Amino acid sequence: MGTKGREIVKADIKELLELLNKALADEWLAYYQYWIGSKIVVGPMRDLVASELEEHANEELEHAGMLVDRIIQLGGTPILNPSEWQSKTNCDYEAPTDPFVIPILKQNIKGEQCAIDVYNKIAEKVKGKDPITLHIVYKIMADEVEHEEDLEAIMDDLEAMKKHFK
Ligand code: FE
Ligand code: FE
Ligand code: MG
Repeated sequence: MGTKGREIVKADIKELLELLNKALADEWLAYYQYWIGSKIVVGPMRDLVASELEEHANEELEHAGMLVDRIIQLGGTPILNPSEWQSKTNCDYEAPTDPFVIPILKQNIKGEQCAIDVYNKIAEKVKGKDPITLHIVYKIMADEVEHEEDLEAIMDDLEAMKKHFK
């Protein structure tokens, strides 16, 4: 990163890099959680769910890219070994062993809620100290909020459907 760009960062860079790498691990695991879910999901509204999951997978991958770019700007090294995804993750990975839409959606909703917490905490840490990271974190957090909303809306539709089958 340029000298001036680094000078304005008032956060503890080592600590920040660790937080960003942990979030990077989360994004890759979220990517795979969504991507594999989109391939295996079965049940009502399967195509709609699969395309929503695939879209979210792509957005998680974009988040990973944004984090890596910032890690490099801050002079850090992004995670180089996928084995670190599991050792550094905040939000973990839940194998979608039941491919029915409801458990798949629930696993992804849980992941989004964890991601929102993670980014909210990073935002609190860098507020007033690193405007560029804050900007990136807000952008990602806005996407995670939208993801949660999208998935919960599908759950609501499934719930409404159930009522009318009685
Ligand atoms: Fe994400
Ligand atoms: Fe997300
Ligand atoms: Mg969406």
